[in-house]
Amino acid sequence: MNRRSSALVLTLMPILVLVRAPATLAASPDPWSWPLDDHALGERFDPPQSDYGAGHRGVDISARAGDVVRAVAAGIVTFAGQVGGVPVVTIDHGRERSTYQPVRSHMHVGDAVQSGQAVGTLLGSPSHCAGACLHLGRLAGDDYLDPLALLGGGAVRLIDPHGKPPAPPAGVGEARLQRPVGGPVTSSFGMRVHPVTGVRKLHDGTDFGVPCGTPVHSAGAGTVVGRSFSAAYGKRVTIRHRPGLETSYNHLSDQSVSVGERVGARDVVGRSGTTGLSTGCHLHFMVLKAGRAVNPQDLL
Ligand SMILES: [Zn+2]
Ligand SMILES: [Zn+2]
Repeated sequence: MNRRSSALVLTLMPILVLVRAPATLAASPDPWSWPLDDHALGERFDPPQSDYGAGHRGVDISARAGDVVRAVAAGIVTFAGQVGGVPVVTIDHGRERSTYQPVRSHMHVGDAVQSGQAVGTLLGSPSHCAGACLHLGRLAGDDYLDPLALLGGGAVRLIDPHGKPPAPPAGVGEARLQRPVGGPVTSSFGMRVHPVTGVRKLHDGTDFGVPCGTPVHSAGAGTVVGRSFSAAYGKRVTIRHRPGLETSYNHLSDQSVSVGERVGARDVVGRSGTTGLSTGCHLHFMVLKAGRAVNPQDLL
């Protein structure tokens, strides 16, 4: 590139950026509704570096085979059939398209659908999830975009600066959880001197005084996302109730659920114990909002 053309590029670059930004924002489509009743996310969107590179061109929503799959927005069915042996449904919403797989559909190409209208049922296989899941894709032309940006559960949300402010992600903030065990609160969330280490620090959960072996119940419906052991928390089970809201159950003597398993509210997830840094049997119950520990008693 000679000096003159590089000077031209440098002159044009800010103009291109300025022109492009409002055009992208103006094209922000309306939010999508969730295609399934459950909002438990599996693998997130991970766009490939090249057109044919590895990546994950959509999001996986954990579900059960046979679950009804619904259109995320109004549109026209432009495909309902097999792609590489996988049953796929595609709906054209105008500027963008949504794709659903593996889904058996009763729709025909050209059918008009409303937002939330049933377009098929989820199949258990072929699926690239541990259990069954819906792989939801979002396409603008040939470009894959993050569906979560329109579903309200992602880190990235497209916001029209001239539109009305977006609603907060579904459910976060007004959640109510159920007590995982009976028994008295023996230590609340907040700063305290740790009974074992003697160090003053945040007690990041609520302690319930219960005998060893007491069944511990899930505080709400969700998906098991963690089953671990650590020196501090001992045997722990973590459940995601919706994007941005998780609960964990610590110092357990027994973990009775596996990662990926779906649980209902009040389902037994383990038994109380005193594993990890603990002075005796109790349940250390934690609530994590967007990854940060909050006071569980505000939600019970
Ligand atoms: Zn997927
Ligand atoms: Zn505790």
